[in-house]
Amino acid sequence: MAIDMTPWPGTDVEKYRAAGYWRGETFAGFLASRARAHGNRVALVDDRTRLTYAELDERTDHVAHGLRGLGLGSDDRVLLQLPNRAEFLLLWFALMKIGAVPVHTQPGHRRSEMVHLAQHSDAAAYVIPDLHAGFDHRELAAEVRSVSPSLKHVIVVGDPGTGTGFTPFTDLLTSAPEAGPAITSRASGGDAALLLLSGGTTGLPKLIPRTHDDYLYNSRAAGEVCELTEESVYLAALPVAFNYTMNCPGVLGALSVGGRVVLAGNPDPGYCFDLIEREGVTIAAINPQLAPVWLDEAAVTDADLSTLRVLQVGSARLADETARKMVAELGCVIQQVFGMAEGLLCLTRLSDPPEIITTTQGRPISPADEIKVAGPDDQEVPDGEEGELLVRGPYTLRGYYHADEHNAKSFTHDGFYRSGDRVRRRPTGHLVVVGRSKDQINRGGEKIPATEVEGHLLAHPAIQSAALLPAPDPDLGERSVAFLVLDGGPDAVPAPDRKELAAFLDKRGVAAFKAPDEVRILDVMPLTPVGKMDKKVLAAQIKAERSKSGPPA
Ligand code: AMP
Repeated sequence: MAIDMTPWPGTDVEKYRAAGYWRGETFAGFLASRARAHGNRVALVDDRTRLTYAELDERTDHVAHGLRGLGLGSDDRVLLQLPNRAEFLLLWFALMKIGAVPVHTQPGHRRSEMVHLAQHSDAAAYVIPDLHAGFDHRELAAEVRSVSPSLKHVIVVGDPGTGTGFTPFTDLLTSAPEAGPAITSRASGGDAALLLLSGGTTGLPKLIPRTHDDYLYNSRAAGEVCELTEESVYLAALPVAFNYTMNCPGVLGALSVGGRVVLAGNPDPGYCFDLIEREGVTIAAINPQLAPVWLDEAAVTDADLSTLRVLQVGSARLADETARKMVAELGCVIQQVFGMAEGLLCLTRLSDPPEIITTTQGRPISPADEIKVAGPDDQEVPDGEEGELLVRGPYTLRGYYHADEHNAKSFTHDGFYRSGDRVRRRPTGHLVVVGRSKDQINRGGEKIPATEVEGHLLAHPAIQSAALLPAPDPDLGERSVAFLVLDGGPDAVPAPDRKELAAFLDKRGVAAFKAPDEVRILDVMPLTPVGKMDKKVLAAQIKAERSKSGPPA
């Protein structure tokens, strides 16, 4: 039985199948079919490994057997928390082969997020590195397992440690493939293949079911826009767990057509430029926060970047000025990427004129993407006017996983997803992102749900009331500002500063990127007439300061 998800209506299912968007293929046989066509071509490269399609397929067979040996199988949810290493994809495809469902978590998630994800998805296993970026994931996994009854296994890439009962990844890799067929998945195209995380606005992250049909169509359509072929070499500079890196067209788009994927351990341009030269990278994806550093390095590097045909920039708003600089100074096509793990993906086209590439965030990749730019009553506003972006289509979800109450608010009655993004549509269909109505901060591409952090801040003994808002930032695009009203009671404790709040949130097991970048103390919290926190007043205050000091440099 497939995992629960909100289905597309039958008429849409028929339409998408008839149009050839949904082909009934699943990821279970994805590598085997690519290995038949491209067996000896290099599929995957990281700092330690270099695998052809045939080798990648064979190794994932071993891992699949190993996973089955642990008792894992159809529809079991498995938390994947790995950085950019070949093992991410070995596990991912092995899970597909046995019909299990990876849950893409972020390397920076900590106890608060991981316990929620383990419990919410009823995960049967959790995959971690031993140490990453100085953090011991084994301790985290032990804590998560102790409070998550469904979690039977922890699989460690690296040293599992003694007495933990954790399974070393190498045990899976050396499993005997003669123990029956590697592919046992009974999934069909319409079943959920994976669960992605939403950036979220309220509470902890929601889970986004993506089906085999819709996810394969997403990467195929994006790959066509990016003109990917078997000669393409995709550099994954950002975490591969992100939908952007995985599927826009990303890793899966490149593998779909027999291209090569190069996993970069970090997005530092010095290191990435060496990879571009060494592997002949043709397409890479970064975010706006990295754009200035990549530009600076490109001006002085000795590395040969001449193979790089397309540089994608997305996940947060790219300033028009930076886009112009990139077009003028980098000898490749710049492509703006505006997408969401929920589905919709907009790309500028490789042949779009510079004016479009530098001032818009692209247009939808599919002719079947239905876009509405809506006013407060959900009625469409004319082209050129600002409104909320609503979307439905062949690869945009119809409901979050097990979230009825949230779904009632996140979708219109006729199935359009309310993105919370404020956009303007040009007559050509290109969208310009002008803001956001959702209560979220986009900190250099990392999404921070304001209410989740506010909830944690309220647990601090000095804090009576807390509001988290975005403020423009020259490096991050947006930084987070915590407006706090202090508890003035007789036992009042001193006002916490930024460092203290970071330590406080860390102790509560919250990912470090969610700690406020700035703290401001207020006498009273502005309230709406019905007594709710009035964030508009605080946002106006930030805006007024900005116009006084001019836009960020
Ligand atoms: P995620 O699901 O984490 O990929 O985040 C999706 C959200 O990131 C979108 O709904 C937007 O709010 C934001 N976003 C992604 N790409 C862009 C872009 N090019 N410009 C502005 N915002 C973006």
